[in-house]
Amino acid sequence: MNAELPSATGQSGGLPAACDLLVVGSGAGALSAAVVAAHLGLDVVVVEKEPLFGGTTAWSGGWMFIPRNPLARAAGIDEDIAEPRRYLRAICGAQFRAERIEAFLAHGPAAVQFHLDHTALAFVDGNALPDFHGRAPGARQGGRSLCAAPFDGRRLGPHLARLRPPCDLWSFLGISIGGDLRHFLRAGRAADSFVYVARRVLRQAWDVLRHGRGTVRMGGNALAAALFKSALDKGVKLHASHAVVGLLREGSRVSGARLRLPGGEERAIRARRGVVLACGGFPHDDARKAALFAHAPSGRAHWSAAPLANSGDGLRLGEAVGAQIDLTLADNGAWAPVSLVPRRGGGTQAFPHLVERGKPGLIAVTRDGRRFVDEAGDYHSFMRALFERCENRDVQAWLICDHRFQRRFGLGHAKPWPLPIGPALRSNYLKRGATIEALAVSCGIDAAQLVRTVAEFNRHARQGIDPEFGRGDTPYDRMQGDAEHSGPNPCVAPIERGPFYGVRILPGSLGTFAGLSVNEHAQVLDVHGRPIDGLYAAGNDASSVMGGHYPSGGITLGPALVFGHILAHHAAGQPLAMPHQRSASAAIREERIA
Ligand SMILES: Cc1cc2nc3c(=O)[nH]c(=O)nc-3n(C[C@H](O)[C@H](O)[C@H](O)COP(=O)(O)OP(=O)(O)OC[C@H]3O[C@@H](n4cnc5c(N)ncnc54)[C@H](O)[C@@H]3O)c2cc1C
Repeated sequence: MNAELPSATGQSGGLPAACDLLVVGSGAGALSAAVVAAHLGLDVVVVEKEPLFGGTTAWSGGWMFIPRNPLARAAGIDEDIAEPRRYLRAICGAQFRAERIEAFLAHGPAAVQFHLDHTALAFVDGNALPDFHGRAPGARQGGRSLCAAPFDGRRLGPHLARLRPPCDLWSFLGISIGGDLRHFLRAGRAADSFVYVARRVLRQAWDVLRHGRGTVRMGGNALAAALFKSALDKGVKLHASHAVVGLLREGSRVSGARLRLPGGEERAIRARRGVVLACGGFPHDDARKAALFAHAPSGRAHWSAAPLANSGDGLRLGEAVGAQIDLTLADNGAWAPVSLVPRRGGGTQAFPHLVERGKPGLIAVTRDGRRFVDEAGDYHSFMRALFERCENRDVQAWLICDHRFQRRFGLGHAKPWPLPIGPALRSNYLKRGATIEALAVSCGIDAAQLVRTVAEFNRHARQGIDPEFGRGDTPYDRMQGDAEHSGPNPCVAPIERGPFYGVRILPGSLGTFAGLSVNEHAQVLDVHGRPIDGLYAAGNDASSVMGGHYPSGGITLGPALVFGHILAHHAAGQPLAMPHQRSASAAIREERIA
């Protein structure tokens, strides 16, 4: 199909009365399923409640954990399926879901190959990206993930306007940033990065003049753009501003859905092969958060970085037809430390701290002035440690650094030199003190203890060590550090040259883990554990395949892509190539015996 044709609508007019597969949502889970199903010959309709397509996926980093993927293999990283299985078993422990993990590992490589062969989605490798838990059995220092390759938005033609743009909080002048983030952080101090960023700013300005928006899309925005383009190319009918409000049933089978159209009118659509719920979980459903997040008993003391439209619709729609919510996970959310950035029109938005915590010259403390974690570790473990320290009550912490650090790396939304920090100080987002003691007073931290903590940290940091929490001890830590740091440890430097800065950290998430119970085909299960005919869940509407653990970056988007692929084949009644069938069933037997 010609991408110039208006096959993505915001109007009610184009909605057909029936289709083969109805896909609800337009993030990675939804669009992966839609693209593959359309390729297999199904008549597919995608409905998205927002005016723009892309969901959280379009705001994300775009990294996908898919072990044994073709890019790793092409680079000579050819591990046996037993290796990632060993790692996932070690991390997921009692929550290791043998059947689903086996399907994920077995079909992941083919899912990536499918896109390489048949769609607009291209990848860059993650062959140097370590697993989060480098000391666990089976951990690798790279080769298990990949990211969407940069996407030229001009390929979408007029449909580019229908794609959710990158989030302005973690982009720069609206520029979509991905694997090139390093250049944006170094632009104030390195000539090559300055030239790179200057070029991107000029290109952005030209694009805005010419196309009304930036056309260079990176990371998660490139992933959403490429899947959107692939869906258009394969004849998927995409309808924005169409919210699913209920599911239709014929007997025990889900046979379609009721939709609220842009004008408020409701309409039904039949789906002959089934309905895929891919509404992105429940990051902004206060009632569900209250029930499932121990640290947020009112549901409000949790600030997700996902878009507000991810309000738990998929879980509610499933429950209304008898689906089971998986309540057996280790954690119910993909935790991330966030700070609240004041918005110009009022209110705040959650900024996830994914980058600067690993750089040298920063610590995190609770209000008693004590550290609680290896700050350079992954965001989920950081929050697990904070929940534990605060015993899930009034959870908060402060990131503390000195002037050199803030100007070199930035601190949360207070960007590095040459960008000014005045606005962040005036809005009270960023706290400043001439001394550590003064900073502690302005943050409400125990001042005497913070002085002791910083002195103790600095004493060891001068030798590049962190005996208390081992900052910089794992490959993941070191990858998050500063490769250009002159000291022995890329994650450790003393905090000594004032003024000093602090930002308050609150509990947040990148998405949710608890979701609809599903089997290895992504079919939704009822309260007795039986598949509900005609109902699938993808992305974060499905319960975490990692059992609520966070083994590596990309463990939501990777499975979203792979299970979209799997469920599309199931709905189309077409077999999946099963290269590891024998070893998969042997592994499951092994699992049952163990
Ligand atoms: C800053 C950031 C960085 C991240 N980086 C990564 C990363 O690198 N790797 C990774 O794996 N994960 C990452 N994540 C998490 C990841 O983005 C999400 O887990 C993932 O995008 C969820 O995909 P999804 O398809 O389930 O939902 P989404 O992409 O959120 O899409 C769901 C869509 O459903 C729509 N919807 C909701 N209700 C309805 C309804 N009733 N009817 C119709 N449509 C509806 C929503 O509007 C939304 O567009 C990141 C998240 C953030 C915030």
